[in-house]
Amino acid sequence: MRKKQFKAESKKLLDMMINSIYTHKEIFLRELISNSSDAIDKLCYTAMNAGDTSISRADRYIKVRADKENRTLTISDNGIGMNGEELENNLGVIARSGSLQFKNDMEPGAEDVDIIGQFGVGFYSAFMVADEVTVITKKYGGDEAFMWQSVGADGYSIEPTAKEGVGTDIIIKLKADTEDEKYGEYLETYTLRSLIKKYSDYIRYPIKLDVEKSRKVDVPDSDEPKYETYTEEETVNSMVPLWQRKKEDVTEEELNEFYKEKFYDMKDPADVIRIDVDGSISYKALLYIPSATPIGYYTKEYKRGLELYSSGVMIMERCEDLIPEHFRFVKGVVDSQDLSLNISRELLQHNRQLRTIAANIEKKVKQELKRLLDNDREKYEKFWESFGLQLKYGIVSEYGANRDALKDLLLYYSSREKKLQTLKEYFDYMPEGQEYIYYACGDSVARVDSLPQTEQLKDKGYAILYMTDEVDEFVVNMLGEFEGKKFKSINDKDLGIEDEDEKKDTELKEEENKVMLDYLRDSLNGKVSAVRLSHKLKSHPVCLSADGEISLEMEKYFSTIPGDGPDIKAQRVLEINPTHKAFYMLLDTWQLDKDKCARLGELLYDQALLIANLPLDDPARYTDLLWEMM
Ligand code: ADP
Repeated sequence: MRKKQFKAESKKLLDMMINSIYTHKEIFLRELISNSSDAIDKLCYTAMNAGDTSISRADRYIKVRADKENRTLTISDNGIGMNGEELENNLGVIARSGSLQFKNDMEPGAEDVDIIGQFGVGFYSAFMVADEVTVITKKYGGDEAFMWQSVGADGYSIEPTAKEGVGTDIIIKLKADTEDEKYGEYLETYTLRSLIKKYSDYIRYPIKLDVEKSRKVDVPDSDEPKYETYTEEETVNSMVPLWQRKKEDVTEEELNEFYKEKFYDMKDPADVIRIDVDGSISYKALLYIPSATPIGYYTKEYKRGLELYSSGVMIMERCEDLIPEHFRFVKGVVDSQDLSLNISRELLQHNRQLRTIAANIEKKVKQELKRLLDNDREKYEKFWESFGLQLKYGIVSEYGANRDALKDLLLYYSSREKKLQTLKEYFDYMPEGQEYIYYACGDSVARVDSLPQTEQLKDKGYAILYMTDEVDEFVVNMLGEFEGKKFKSINDKDLGIEDEDEKKDTELKEEENKVMLDYLRDSLNGKVSAVRLSHKLKSHPVCLSADGEISLEMEKYFSTIPGDGPDIKAQRVLEINPTHKAFYMLLDTWQLDKDKCARLGELLYDQALLIANLPLDDPARYTDLLWEMM
């Protein structure tokens, strides 16, 4: 037997392969199983073309066998096998793919064969975990069997051998364990089973594994139970992926079970989206929306992504590029035959196909959410509860690039309808003459609803959208308007509903009392930038609003950000109702005792703080003032 050298380039490549192409050593099993699956596909194809009916698809399988004593792992298939020449060509020259050759030689339109391999390197990944690899193979239609053997870069040998039946056995002798790598793991049933499940679950032929089991044996005249171990062959892979099966053949329960098992959720998903695109780039996708916010979802640690398969073989566990950030709650799998993979199947060479798929998925998810919103409101509102915040973030992020795509999906509580409404619904129910979309921000619907600033609008029959998330004001700023109607905060100085005469009246009154109002402002010692008379208030004495860009809600939001960020403060304005008793009391006191008037102003400011759900600077002083006035 003569030892042959790999071609020079091959040697380098083998070295590179062993050391760097793959990030995870465990994928060697996936590569060998994919080769076996290809070999079976080739056999079925060849036999069918030759009119050989003795070969049936149903008899084909792949078998994985671990031998702990000899530290070997054998991957066998009853596929097409190789003759001497093919062994030489396919395994003697790295990066020559017999599979690619086969694919190129195939009749056009031979669709049933979906060969996975085409780079001619997968086989060598075995050397990442093996000291020695032996291939015993017999080609379909031939009578000779051959054995190929190699200990890596050193070269290989080929010699005739005996083998029953066609097909190939790949025997890999695992390396000795080191500190960092426990190669012996690959002999454990548990590891093998999970690797097969993880990477090769949807290989179309059964992958059989010998599993050690134990059973009770009856021993006559003895009460002691006795057990014996035995091995049983088990088919590990599920073979046909759910997403490859026809829609009508898959039950809801199967879809739900698959989701729970795969994505470790206890609850059924809220919604399932199945996509089947046949086009210049064909793909199938099975997507899920969880029924509740996953733990840690709204943190940086949560990573988005879909599982990516190429012809039933998993190539990426979490492909971020497939799903945009604003739909990051979507989980699922995508499978396409049209991806150009790079040599290690780990990265995609051309992202064009991926981008096409991703754009399509984004469109479909949006359509599905819109469908729920229109046809199954209850379900949509549940979804909104879990992931509405995500959509809001989607609107403000990336400088608003996605706002138009997402704005129709927003829901806000409406003061008039007393339920969640879309912006479109708000717009459609606006009474004639209403110029703005009114909104109010606060901690809760109940709190916002009790704000004095809402009274006049309610009286006019205008609905106000109540916003209770910190991000809401940013959403409103980002949107600016909806269907040509601008958003207006109820804190705005001018709500656009004032009676012109009343407004003039108030302005006049403000002018008359300017000295007192400025005095109150000054005695509040920088706490407010102005004290004004308001035409917004009806039954309440005071309210707090803000001048300028920063609203009170924004100030609250910024104050919750930990660290020594910029101290962002709103320019507070104390608004006083000129028709309220409190105002007359101020006027009277102003005539008699200016100091007392200042204290009354202080009391009113504190009340405005309470109404706005802001903390009092000095609660004890507040009660004292209250008692003094009483
Ligand atoms: P690829 O699968 O990308 O073509 P590999 O290095 O994995 O590259 O395999 C090289 C070639 O060896 C394959 O194209 C195929 O022709 C042949 N081969 C590998 N494994 C088997 C097998 N189990 N049965 C038959 N032929 C095989």
